[in-house]
Order: sequence, then structure tokens, then C-alpha cells
Amino acid sequence: MKVYISADMEGVSGVVAWESTERGKDDYERMRRLMTQEVNAAIEGALEAGATYVVVNDSHGGMRNLVLEDLKPEARVISGDRKPLSMMEGISPDFDAVFFVGYHSQACSLGVLNHTYTTRVVQYSVNGKAVGETGMNALIAGFFGVPVALVTGDAAVVAEAKALLGDVETVAVKEARSQYSALCLHPVKARELIKEAAAKALRNLPAYRPLRPESPSTVRLSFSASGHADAASIMPGAVRVDPVTVEFTAQDYITAYRGARTMMHLTFA
Ligand code: ZN
Repeated sequence: MKVYISADMEGVSGVVAWESTERGKDDYERMRRLMTQEVNAAIEGALEAGATYVVVNDSHGGMRNLVLEDLKPEARVISGDRKPLSMMEGISPDFDAVFFVGYHSQACSLGVLNHTYTTRVVQYSVNGKAVGETGMNALIAGFFGVPVALVTGDAAVVAEAKALLGDVETVAVKEARSQYSALCLHPVKARELIKEAAAKALRNLPAYRPLRPESPSTVRLSFSASGHADAASIMPGAVRVDPVTVEFTAQDYITAYRGARTMMHLTFA
């Protein structure tokens, strides 16, 4: 049984500030260790339930956050940035289950450190449905026929995942008090729950269905400023919908998603 783990940071228990998630700043060195241990808990649960091959994709920021020497030796890790499928790089039809660990809720929701891919994006929607990174990436897994079996993060991302995916195992490790504060489980308790849920997710695997994207696929991006939409609309095929919104349509979701990624990158150019 092969398990793919996409690991983000904003949904790890104890993480409540952007500064804690940025290399070289504040509590980053501590928070990356908390992240690594939550991922380890998911790996342990997966192994306990019979996983024979586990790949972890470091999916936050520069994507070099996991402390490799502290990671469970049974797992392989994808480390580093500039990956065509970004938070889902390495996913393929060979995998039986996807876990999202340390995830956060979509931009403009009531979740800790909520955002969608960049803080410049106010809304990301696919064929008219607004989704966060959970949906953005579950659709990639679904394109390859792989179901999301576990989502961990704050209570807001858990609610978002359940609404989107229906049957899915979840762990809420914290509850937002604001975008930048939370009632957190102790890290040790969070790990216990994640390990348990990971094992349960694999035992229940037949209950979970891949989130298959529709074809053709239109991704629409609304930005926080018209200047970002100006930059995004440089991409061939991009359609300006209104001063802050652009969209891109492709035959399949992977191409539409890559178009959306390109438009987001253009805002930083
Ligand atoms: Zn992140």
C-alpha cells in the first residue's frame, strides 16, 4: 500500500504567525520541528496500518522545512521548490491514498493563517466552485484517481475538507481565535491523534472516493489588487473577468491548475 503525504505548515499545532513559518525568522526553527513530528505521526500511523511505501512532499513556502534527519527513515521525501505540481509533486496513479498534514483553510475564511496559495489570492475557484488548497490539491490527486483519506489542520480546514470531500478522516489540532491566534492541542496530543487517524484512514480506505475534476476545467483567480490581475493577464489564454479577476480554461484540470500557478507566479515577477 502506497501513501502520499503533502505536508504544509500553517495547520500544525502551535503555528499561529506568518513569521513562525518563514526561514530565518522568529520561531521558525522550532515550528519546522513541530511540523516534522506531525508528519512523523502520520507516517507511523500509515506504517502501522500496512503502508509499504510512503512519500512525503514538503509543501510549505520554499519547501525545505522538514528536518530530514528527524524524519521517520521508512519515508522518502521530496524537498525543494519549482516543482510543476508544487504541493502535489510526485503524485501518480500508483498511490492508494493521499494525506494532507498541517493544512489550513481557504483565503477569507475563519481559519488560522487562512490563505489560498499566496496571500495575494482572495479566491481560487474551479468551474465556479471556490476551494482552498485542500480542494486545489484534492483535484490533482483525483485526476490521478487517488482519494484524500486524511486531512489535519485547524477546525476550519477540517470543516472545509468534510464539506468538499464527504467521507474523509480528519484531525483538528487547533481552533482559531482569530487569523493569528488559536486554542492549540499540546504537540504530543496532536501527534497521538494524527497517528491514530492515519491508521484509521488506511483501514477505511474503500470508503473514500477520489475528487475527480471536470473536463474542461476553468480556474478563476481573484486577487487583492488590480495590479496582480494586470500581471496575471499577461499569460497567453488568460481572460480578464473584472479588475481583480482572471480566468483560464483548459481541457483538463492539471493544465488549468498549471495555468493558475503561472498566473500567480507572474504577480511576483
Ligand atoms: Zn504553507
